[in-house]
Amino acid sequence: MSNEIQQGTSDNTSVMSDEIWQDTSDEIQQNFTCEICIEPATLSQKFGHDANCVHNICFMCIASHIQSKIDDNICTINCPELDCEKTLIPMECRPMIPSSLFVKWSDCLCRSYVSTYKSCYCPYRDCSEPILNECNVATEKYACPACKRLVCYACRAPWHAGFRCSKASRETDENDVRFGRLLVRMQWSRCPKCGQAIERVAGCQFVKCRCRTSFCYLCGSQDCQHTRRNIVIIVMNIIITIFFMFIFLVGVEGNRN
Ligand SMILES: [Zn+2]
Ligand SMILES: [Zn+2]
Ligand SMILES: [Zn+2]
Ligand SMILES: [Zn+2]
Ligand SMILES: [Zn+2]
Ligand SMILES: [Zn+2]
Repeated sequence: MSNEIQQGTSDNTSVMSDEIWQDTSDEIQQNFTCEICIEPATLSQKFGHDANCVHNICFMCIASHIQSKIDDNICTINCPELDCEKTLIPMECRPMIPSSLFVKWSDCLCRSYVSTYKSCYCPYRDCSEPILNECNVATEKYACPACKRLVCYACRAPWHAGFRCSKASRETDENDVRFGRLLVRMQWSRCPKCGQAIERVAGCQFVKCRCRTSFCYLCGSQDCQHTRRNIVIIVMNIIITIFFMFIFLVGVEGNRN
């Protein structure tokens, strides 16, 4: 029994080493000299962007080029070949570089991606996750994707229901916070000038505070789309009223005749 097994093993080994020897001999015939390290390397170690754009640069040199850039916090990396204006693409280079380097490169790219968008870090200290506004939408209230708590994008602070940003830092007493939430729930508004909470019982959304400041009840602004739209609606109503009165008067005149 043991003889047979030994026989088989030695046979396999001899076949394997023959193949390896043949492979190496093929590769030796297809060597190139890397123009960065001036060392011979096998063709399978030759760097290229694609089949039509191959350089005389070995994988080792590409990897150390990428590594040195990432050490300098540069993650958009140009091709080291002087005549080539391409930038290196991580997915292209992935099979040619150590996987740990690929991960570092991806992290570096991710950080620079975050910094190109309007972003902030979650203001809650136990979270501090970056929050991206990828669509660059003009919203102030934002939920942190990690901890799900609400954040004010404008002032980069925990969400301050019912308070304007500038006021938020001053009025963070617990009662103020509670009142702020009530204000939002009751859909009350705040005077943009004196900060007085105002409840509109009925009527036009353009309200007047006791400090004589007029402002839009919906958004708290003194000149906003709501008020402009409101003025347009009022003017339209006046025109329509005059038009119908005119028709009515014409009708009365017609009946008299
Ligand atoms: Zn090289
Ligand atoms: Zn290139
Ligand atoms: Zn968070
Ligand atoms: Zn704010
Ligand atoms: Zn006021
Ligand atoms: Zn408004």
